[in-house]
Amino acid sequence: MTQAKAKDSIEVLTIGDELLSGAIVDTNSSLIAQKLGAIGLEVERMGSVGDSEEDIVDELVSASRRARAVIVTGGLGPTQDDRTAQAAARAFGRNLVLHEESLRRIKELFQSLGLEMTPNNERQAWIPEESTVIPNPMGTAPGFCLEANDCILIFLPGVPRELEKMLDESVVPMLSERLAPKLCILSRTLRLFGIAEAKIDHLVKGALEGLEGVSLASLPQYPENRLRITVRAKGEKEASSLLAEAERLLREKIGRWVYGIDDEDMESLVLALMRKRALKLTLAESCTGGLIAHRLTNVPGASEVLQRCYVAYSEEAKVELGVERSLIDKHGVVSAEVAEAMASRAASRVPGSVGLSTTGVAGPTGGSEEIPVGTVFIGLCSQEGTWSQRFRFRGGRGNVKTLASTVALDWLRRYLLGENPQEYTVPWR
Ligand code: ATP
Ligand code: MG
Repeated sequence: MTQAKAKDSIEVLTIGDELLSGAIVDTNSSLIAQKLGAIGLEVERMGSVGDSEEDIVDELVSASRRARAVIVTGGLGPTQDDRTAQAAARAFGRNLVLHEESLRRIKELFQSLGLEMTPNNERQAWIPEESTVIPNPMGTAPGFCLEANDCILIFLPGVPRELEKMLDESVVPMLSERLAPKLCILSRTLRLFGIAEAKIDHLVKGALEGLEGVSLASLPQYPENRLRITVRAKGEKEASSLLAEAERLLREKIGRWVYGIDDEDMESLVLALMRKRALKLTLAESCTGGLIAHRLTNVPGASEVLQRCYVAYSEEAKVELGVERSLIDKHGVVSAEVAEAMASRAASRVPGSVGLSTTGVAGPTGGSEEIPVGTVFIGLCSQEGTWSQRFRFRGGRGNVKTLASTVALDWLRRYLLGENPQEYTVPWR
């Protein structure tokens, strides 16, 4: 049979009945794909098969005909259901041979742990002839590598921590040497808030046309979305200018929603902007229950900026904070007026500070026709003025709290960047 295209693909095959029954989730495939991706090798196909020797043989034979390399995990252990080595030997017409050094290692390991070694443990030292052993520093079953049908087949244990160590120490360096394109790979993640994944995809469509060696990955992470740009080029200089160009073109389309890159989160950015302007922050939270404070205090050094947080949950607490009872009676506790009063009462506790407040209905009960569940007013008070905004967030109680806290931080961030606070709207999903 003639090969339609050069054999350059890589496949992953995971073995185990537990994978098919759903008892365990296949994390090995994604670990392998990530490690190979980092050296510029893309996995083209992933598959799982049960412990049946027959099925493993079939899969090994067909994968070896299609691919340049196949990475197999699982079934190298000592038990009856571990049949991978046998299947590999059968698939490629080889005998199993005893690898003396591996046997010695297994014996030593048992001795050092003071455990009795049962005869079936010896099975792990039997590997197909004409294979190279891949050492397993974390466990008993060695891996092995063999070549057949112009394909490199690599067999590794299923236990994730053993697998990871062997990938790092042996497999990735070997494949990098033999298969990886000699390219410089760089990536950057744009972090976006207030735009849905499908809309990002729609807006950036075609934006990178003509740029060779750039790929995009959409990585939604509620409540934000992330877009990872990966570039591959001959040298570091080419790669970084390609990355800069790709980022520039993407920002032309979606820059309005990009708030940070890589590990910059909303709370760190807000704190950094406040610190830069020597501003202090005071919070008055109702429906977010302290979540904004929690998020900000996750950032080391938050105390330079965050001064007070009042969780004014009940009406009494809001009155204690300084909100006038008559204002609550007149406008309702979930209202623009109360949000503004909360922000300004909080700010007044620390002269010169910026006040940020939330009051809303997180649900699932407590909504009305005028103020349905998910309604949140956010208040912002600075020396320049006091503002509030009404928002309506969808989802359960947790979603409403998360969204309210993120929107509050985003609004404050945009204000600190010089945007008119009256013009803030979440350009919503
Ligand atoms: P052992 O010596 O433990 O028998 P093994 O190479 O025979 O190792 P398996 O028996 O297939 O590997 O799997 C051992 C354990 O490793 C499983 O019980 C499971 O917890 C984990 N594991 C196996 N395959 C995967 C996979 N694809 N993704 C995540 N975990 C896995
Ligand atoms: Mg096993």
